[in-house]
Amino acid sequence: MNQKQVYEIPTAKFKNVDFEIFEHDEAAKLGCLNQFWNGIPGRESDFSSCDEASEWMYDNLIHYRPFLQLFELCRGEAVSLNELAMKIFPNLSHEDALNAVSVLLSFAPLACNKKGMRLFPARMHMLFRGIKGVYACVNEKCKKHIEHGGISLGQIFLSENQLVCPSCNSPVYELCNDRRCGALFYRGYVLEEDVARGQAYLWQYPGQLLDQELKAIYLYIPTKEFKWRGERSKNQYAIRPCYMDVKSGFLYFNDDSKAGEDGYRKFYYSEFIGEGRPKEYTFQICPHCQHQLSQKQLSTFETRGNQSFNNLITTQFNLEPAVPEKEKEPE
Ligand SMILES: [Zn+2]
Ligand SMILES: [Zn+2]
Repeated sequence: MNQKQVYEIPTAKFKNVDFEIFEHDEAAKLGCLNQFWNGIPGRESDFSSCDEASEWMYDNLIHYRPFLQLFELCRGEAVSLNELAMKIFPNLSHEDALNAVSVLLSFAPLACNKKGMRLFPARMHMLFRGIKGVYACVNEKCKKHIEHGGISLGQIFLSENQLVCPSCNSPVYELCNDRRCGALFYRGYVLEEDVARGQAYLWQYPGQLLDQELKAIYLYIPTKEFKWRGERSKNQYAIRPCYMDVKSGFLYFNDDSKAGEDGYRKFYYSEFIGEGRPKEYTFQICPHCQHQLSQKQLSTFETRGNQSFNNLITTQFNLEPAVPEKEKEPE
């Protein structure tokens, strides 16, 4: 191969990669790699093993424009998937571009020479592989907080075993999102009677209080631009503000006396109970994008083994700003 040559990769090649199969086993992976590479300029035969493919990719990925660009873009600071998609595949639709980027991100970490040296740091690859869920400390001022898309989250954890943040001692809750818009929610559990009296401790797990049934509650994490236009009404569909003591995990529902007070964080919640979902307070519509939540519920970030790269795109919670909210008024 001519060392100076940089090849383009036909866009159809990216579309044909089946991630479900790719993640299945070694033979399936080899099949996918062969389907992708064979026939691409500079590569005219099948690999006989994944190791052979890995070594070849180690030597050759930099000769392919999309990979080369990926390496250049990922060299410095963290970049978002959106940014990668737009810069590497400016001519593809956003969806196709994101898909193509996830192909790059699933192939690149495989590039490895005989000594085990890798071309591309596996950091991102690892992060999205088979995670059980994503958890975050509630403290916006946590020493390890991250800021993205107009919101701040405390330290992030990929295991459910962390009840208290080691950086700031604030409680840690699971994150959920609306996959349509990327809006983020903390999910915790409360006693119904506590909500009724206006103050509730937010538990991390449904079974944390023996003998008492807890209800899940979703707390919308507002972006800086979010504007609450609602009234304080008793209507169960209403979206209402609440305030959390970030040190203790106590929530205050019925008044604004904690507004702006140091150590309190404002979220939005609703007492809406969906049909067939009596055990959770959810929203009738997403506070961010105003879509009905009846069709598509808020979801956790759990990725099941084989789907890891399909989910990679939706798992960009800490890299992607949520899409701009709609201007429409909530009903
Ligand atoms: Zn923290
Ligand atoms: Zn939404």
